[in-house]
Amino acid sequence: MSQEKDKNNNEYEDICYLCRRTESQAGKMMHIPNNICICSDCMQKTFDTMNNSNMGNMGNYMDMMNMSGFHMPQNEVPNRQKIKKKKENAKEEPIIDIKKIPAPHIIKEKLDDYVVGQDFAKKVISVAVYNHYKRVSAGTIDDVEVEKSNMLMIGPTGSGKTFLVKTLAKILQVPLAITDATSLTEAGYIGDDVESVLSKLLAAAENDVEKAEKGIIFIDEIDKIAKKQSTTNRDVSGESVQQGLLKLLEGSEVEVPVGATSKNAMVPMTTINTKNILFICGGAFPKLEKVIKGRLTKQIAIGFGGELKDKYDNDPNILAKVTAEDLREFGMIPEFLGRLPIVFALNELTKEMLIQVLKEPKNAIIKQYQKLLSLDEVDLQFDEDALETIAQKAIERKTGARALRAILEEFMLDIMYEIPKDDSIGRVTITKGYIDGVGAPRIEMRGSDRITTIGKKDAGEFSPI
Ligand code: ADP
Repeated sequence: MSQEKDKNNNEYEDICYLCRRTESQAGKMMHIPNNICICSDCMQKTFDTMNNSNMGNMGNYMDMMNMSGFHMPQNEVPNRQKIKKKKENAKEEPIIDIKKIPAPHIIKEKLDDYVVGQDFAKKVISVAVYNHYKRVSAGTIDDVEVEKSNMLMIGPTGSGKTFLVKTLAKILQVPLAITDATSLTEAGYIGDDVESVLSKLLAAAENDVEKAEKGIIFIDEIDKIAKKQSTTNRDVSGESVQQGLLKLLEGSEVEVPVGATSKNAMVPMTTINTKNILFICGGAFPKLEKVIKGRLTKQIAIGFGGELKDKYDNDPNILAKVTAEDLREFGMIPEFLGRLPIVFALNELTKEMLIQVLKEPKNAIIKQYQKLLSLDEVDLQFDEDALETIAQKAIERKTGARALRAILEEFMLDIMYEIPKDDSIGRVTITKGYIDGVGAPRIEMRGSDRITTIGKKDAGEFSPI
């Protein structure tokens, strides 16, 4: 009997536990307890990695090795893969002190310092966030369970969706993870599974689970996971992702890998409760306007209002009239929408708003350039019509405020290159002519008696630029 077993064993090749190559491919295997075989390449790699000291938690593996008589130096595990200890008195201390949550009007005021326009969105977000953190701090003391304030933000590209959330997280000093819905797939398919967003948040919270549990997760491009209209294949990146997100949005305990975005045997795990994590989803929802218009026009057709059918054709605020019904028609599943109770829209930025974005926020792009040049003791100025031209060019690119930086960078490159060459230059003014490509910036030299102005009339004289 046992002879027969041996014979059978000889007919099978050993397979490396780590790289899955067979004995004929990888050479002789080493045998360690629990019927585990490891090829010499993997064994060597393991030793090398441990010596490099940044492999992280090889705990189980090291135990395994030690058991089999291998003795390796116990390297330091990097913090990236460790979990911060919970404070001993964590239970008595409230996670968030209710008195420290800024009131909605203060949150809005702070948002105003950075985000131009979008007044309605800022107001909605301030109230929602205030309520959310109030709910977090109240916990389950009351019988009345306040609903989670997850949000859905609809707005064109470059209208400030991501920027708004980033600013909010900064004001509230909570960890933020930003992820792209297009990179998510149903668990088991190529791509990140939905739980990977929690790993990102944990990393943003420096592996402090408690901090992560009151953080914010922003999922961008949420419109891209709308249900595919007609498909015979399994919709692993659309409807299934919406389904996968449901339990996170609602609040559940999730096992999360630490220091990696996917689970595997080598990565330690921890549990995160998503009950108090604020989820904000954002998307441009192209063609949603058409769906809204369709619904509104249908209402007119069956009503007695006598209104014109093309009433909504040129309505710039059509997105603000969005309802859950429209989003369902767009391809979002009702259960998903049900978990995002706050829905609001951002407006496309107008030319005036783009000019404001250039110069007014606390960290406005122009202010950043001015600061850089001021370190060289050069005063940088922009003519008002130059700013207008930049804004106009941005509108033509149709990517909202996102285009502004790109356009400005094109023009500022030469300035930033040439100006430090000559330390007699005291002031540079960017003119409309320069932006239009038909003139030069105005240069003024340092020292009152030596002011030379190379102006529009001398276009071309500042030839190096
Ligand atoms: P999206 O709506 O596509 O997420 P972003 O928030 O990424 O747009 O905007 C891109 C950049 O444009 C931001 O980093 C920010 O600098 C600027 N920006 C966009 N909207 C505004 C705004 N309303 N106020 C100030 N800056 C803005």
